[in-house]
Amino acid sequence: MTGAVSRDRRRFLTAGAAVLGAAASAQLWLPAAARAAETPLPEGVFSLGVASGDPLPDGIVLWTRLAPDPLNGGGMPERTVPVEWELAEDSRFRKPVRRGTVQARPELGHSVHVDVRGLRPGRVYWYRFRTSGRLSPTGRTRTAPSPHSSGGSLRVALASCQNWQNGYFTPYADMRDQDPDFVLFVGDYVYESVPSATGARIHEGTGEPYTLVQYRNRYAQYRTDPHLAAMHAAAPWVVTFDDHEVDNDFASEIPQDPAKQPHDAFVARLTAGYQAYYEHMPVRASAIPGGPHIQMYRRLDFGRLARLNVLDTRQFRSDQATGQAGAQDPSLTMLGAEQKEWLLGNLHDSPARWNLIASQIMMAETDLQVGEGKLWYYDAWDGYQAERNALMGEFANVSNPVVLTGDRHLTMISDLKRDFADPDSAVVGAEFVGTSISSGGDSDLDAFHRDWDPRLPDNPHWKLVDAHRGYHLFDIRRDGIDAQVRVPETVLKPEAASSVLARLRVEAGEPGVRLV
Ligand code: FE
Ligand code: CA
Repeated sequence: MTGAVSRDRRRFLTAGAAVLGAAASAQLWLPAAARAAETPLPEGVFSLGVASGDPLPDGIVLWTRLAPDPLNGGGMPERTVPVEWELAEDSRFRKPVRRGTVQARPELGHSVHVDVRGLRPGRVYWYRFRTSGRLSPTGRTRTAPSPHSSGGSLRVALASCQNWQNGYFTPYADMRDQDPDFVLFVGDYVYESVPSATGARIHEGTGEPYTLVQYRNRYAQYRTDPHLAAMHAAAPWVVTFDDHEVDNDFASEIPQDPAKQPHDAFVARLTAGYQAYYEHMPVRASAIPGGPHIQMYRRLDFGRLARLNVLDTRQFRSDQATGQAGAQDPSLTMLGAEQKEWLLGNLHDSPARWNLIASQIMMAETDLQVGEGKLWYYDAWDGYQAERNALMGEFANVSNPVVLTGDRHLTMISDLKRDFADPDSAVVGAEFVGTSISSGGDSDLDAFHRDWDPRLPDNPHWKLVDAHRGYHLFDIRRDGIDAQVRVPETVLKPEAASSVLARLRVEAGEPGVRLV
């Protein structure tokens, strides 16, 4: 879709929302008696907007959270509130398809997650919520293609790492113009860091979040970014978390700083962090946390064109190695036995042309040691090398594996090698590390090149390494994937234009990626 058409669509959506606001009072969603019985809720009850996610061929999750005072615990009364929802084939809701009422409960922060089923595959729908006479903004979403469809194209935006304090979420303005079928967000949706007076914007609160209310306030603040809110309302998202949604570099139930956070305190923190994550994300009820655990690894199929395996590389991993030898310890696991078996089953049984893997952390090797010898990051797959290398062996027998990653706050686009220790070893796949929406702020590109250019000869599998903020956009078709690295001029202003920094291509049946 061209920018001009998208801008027309955006104007149309905006105009549609205004018309809907006026029309809503005339439309009776509830019997008059029931409406009269409602205690009026404060204005701004839909301040956090709307979202949708995890598209199926016949279903989609619709989300909102009632929060008239979003940065102070939400501001809702301590009671269950009915919320009506409606989904239609058109933005003016003249062709309604499904509607119902869902209960917003205080135990879940008055969030609602409607798992709508019985929809038609591969089509756009509009949705909205209503409670206490107030109407939400209108959201637009899209179901996955029919399971039997093998052709067509899929447009996916890969995003990660949006630190509020490092900048504005300007890349989403461009992303919305590109009209992706869905957004894949691979972690660091919020950062748990303390408010910093020197930030481009300042975190709410007075310190790191530990309690449920503190995490809710942090998510709510992030959702007040207008570009983020608009992107959620424009397309479905498929999300997973990394570490900063709870605590930097945590592993399973081990915090970054075990000396400062005793085990029981960290378990309470995980419980709060995961619940706030569920409350704010458009995911199915299967992700309602049970104490300090949340089920996030899952599979989504997009016809016979693409299968997406969303990994959880935090909850089941061994603690990070502390040295080169530890990183090669075969007893270390990233996925845990159960998730590993699940992933291999999905890969080997896949009917799909493309087998996408959403991994929070980078899979290809990063050798930081210039010249002789190697030095790795131990939080990434390099720190869990035996398991990574075994996975590379499996990739040799998988149809077109492509790994989509975040964490690094850099664009790093690589061939995946059967054995990174052997420069002549076979290429078995491709990986895109999708830079960051804002984390790291505007980079000092000279300093970046001074640090990273000398490492290029040690990492011949890297095809592009770059320090601009932004995101990656993929057009997936049977014959290949065309990728764009799209970067904003700056994230230090609320509005900034974006441009294409690089274009790349993955050819079906030819493992690896190349610049075009
Ligand atoms: Fe990050
Ligand atoms: Ca080296």
